[in-house]
Amino acid sequence: MLIRGGTVVDTDPVAARVADVLLDGGRIAAVGPELPVSAGVEVLDATGMLVLPGFVDTHRHTWQAGLRAIRPDISLATYLEFVLGTVGPRYRPADVHTGTLAGALECLDAGITTVVDWNHVQHTPDHTAAGLDALRSAGIRAVFGYCTTEPELGAARAALAATGGLVTMAMAPFGPEIVSEEVALREWRIARELDLPVTVHMGGSGVENAERGLDFLRRNGLLGPRTSYAHGNSFTGEHLKVIADSGGTLAVSPVVEQALGFGGPATGRALAAGVPAGLGADTVINGPGDMFSLMRSAYAHARLDSGFSTRDALRAATVDGAKAAALDGVGTLAPGSHADLVLLRTDLPGVAPVHDPVATVVLSMDTRAVDTVLVGGRIVKRDGRLLAGNVTTLLTELAESAARVTATA
Ligand SMILES: [Zn+2]
Repeated sequence: MLIRGGTVVDTDPVAARVADVLLDGGRIAAVGPELPVSAGVEVLDATGMLVLPGFVDTHRHTWQAGLRAIRPDISLATYLEFVLGTVGPRYRPADVHTGTLAGALECLDAGITTVVDWNHVQHTPDHTAAGLDALRSAGIRAVFGYCTTEPELGAARAALAATGGLVTMAMAPFGPEIVSEEVALREWRIARELDLPVTVHMGGSGVENAERGLDFLRRNGLLGPRTSYAHGNSFTGEHLKVIADSGGTLAVSPVVEQALGFGGPATGRALAAGVPAGLGADTVINGPGDMFSLMRSAYAHARLDSGFSTRDALRAATVDGAKAAALDGVGTLAPGSHADLVLLRTDLPGVAPVHDPVATVVLSMDTRAVDTVLVGGRIVKRDGRLLAGNVTTLLTELAESAARVTATA
């Protein structure tokens, strides 16, 4: 397939130019002006559009899609009680499937082609299987964050065996700030045994907890690369330096962190400290699910305390996000990368005219600009419409599932 004549916005480094993108076997084969079209190549006309690598969401509890905007303006304590105490335990495998599938399609619709799915609703192996199956059928590139209150190598190995294709797995420990050191050690042992990257909530609940958690990792030799710390608002400059030296990354959820009172998003401070920081929705219970909103929130806050730019915001949403997801060949259009792309319309009120393509994406766009989305070279959205079978039916099921799990809640 040849994507012809769009304004190609790449991320590493950030640059824009009119060019074609040639895809081959799920990968990007070439990017350049007026590439030759050989026989049998499908041509997709991108004239007037911006062509970008798909966005990477580095932290999302995808299963919560049916709980959208149900608890605005709450505290962390209320959030935890609602999710873990009341509603989460009511999820059956079918609810996990419906929520995760709807959440993944919501991502694709908004141009998010990769999601780190932090799945902490794995009450039984059937719940785990339902989450994995939903990600597979959505056609999204996903890192399934394996999380359980009873970390056990055999069960984790079984979940890993069910991954493949676009779906890989990470260990999602509750971690030293939430569970006992003994359980946390078990979580990391499984990650090491199965050679999984790690995505863990840390540094979001005060500087004392942040210090204690990092110290636990340091004492036990668990600091290292392929480790993404979700939130990190309370990490000091010193903490960020420790993380940078270890090759770790941050997964920042700018809207939810501010809404729940974690503190200012660490995006700008992380950048200054040399820690790659990606963005994530975290939850749609009290925050937005699209990357445009996340970029703007991170950008606005980071402008307060650093020279953070719209280019930095775009990198956080793409190539730095790929680092936080511990995935190669994602978040960039470099030849050899996965053919995960978004084509964005510019002929819309509120978007036109385009003076600076990067600034247009970060400051002026929203999901309605997402015209076409490809994952691994496969089109999942075209002409502004998801190609997934029967989205209307899915949304009805989502509403029914949500009504059941929130009844009298
Ligand atoms: Zn989270």
